[in-house]
Amino acid sequence: MLRQVAEGVLIRESEFCQSNAVVVQGRAGVLLIDPGVLGYEMAALANDLRELGQPVVAGFSTHPHWDHLLWHAQLGAAARYGTARCAATVGALLSDANWKERIAPFIPPDIVEQVPLDLLGLITGLPAETAQIPWDGPQVRIIEHQAHAPGHAALLIEERGVLVAGDMLSDVLIPLLDLNDTADPIEDYLAALRLLEGATGDVDVLVPGPGSTGGADQVHARIDPDRAYMHALRDAHVPSDPRVGPSATYGWVPGVHARQLQRLARRSERDGTPG
Ligand SMILES: [Zn+2]
Repeated sequence: MLRQVAEGVLIRESEFCQSNAVVVQGRAGVLLIDPGVLGYEMAALANDLRELGQPVVAGFSTHPHWDHLLWHAQLGAAARYGTARCAATVGALLSDANWKERIAPFIPPDIVEQVPLDLLGLITGLPAETAQIPWDGPQVRIIEHQAHAPGHAALLIEERGVLVAGDMLSDVLIPLLDLNDTADPIEDYLAALRLLEGATGDVDVLVPGPGSTGGADQVHARIDPDRAYMHALRDAHVPSDPRVGPSATYGWVPGVHARQLQRLARRSERDGTPG
């Protein structure tokens, strides 16, 4: 079920974590951002696009996590892109003959059979500093940062007033840090929030990866609690954040928060530095 969120911009929400796939209409077809998670969902999306007479002419993955790198044969063979850093991270994964085994632990067991991995991550890296996605449609500005995952791109479709945030600015998930080989993940996250804050003055619609879409007021309404959560992690306070409280949308999020705390504590023991 495609839903229009702005002129020429449609989303399809997955059963998995309310993840949003984003469709942007161009002159000869659509740009598809983070196509979806479950095989039948992506097949249904391909069907809907076929009925609309809108072939996929380009794809984009916002960041190198499995649930943003999937594809379905019925979506066709358009060029798929990511930032150079995103593509390099995926390339390193796919160069391991056992990559499917390596990512299997990250896929929830109840959906693993429904996640088609064959076309995962077949993306072309756009040269560093590329300002826009190369395609024939509304300009899509790439705002690259290093929060959450290497080479994460938020996408700003200025003509349509839409920000596609990837796995940031969610109302249901806490900010998830990239704790793999990063020197200062909390500062990376705070820097990304500053970057998004500076770039989103004219945004009318916010589309997060997981969670609900929001209007103009939601950009600050989500940046502020994410920043407060980061400050709580940095200063070792207990966050007063409904996403990890008793009313959390997902019961497993408090556990994710606890693991982040543990891993940060281990890092600071190891390095002798806070955070
Ligand atoms: Zn992610």
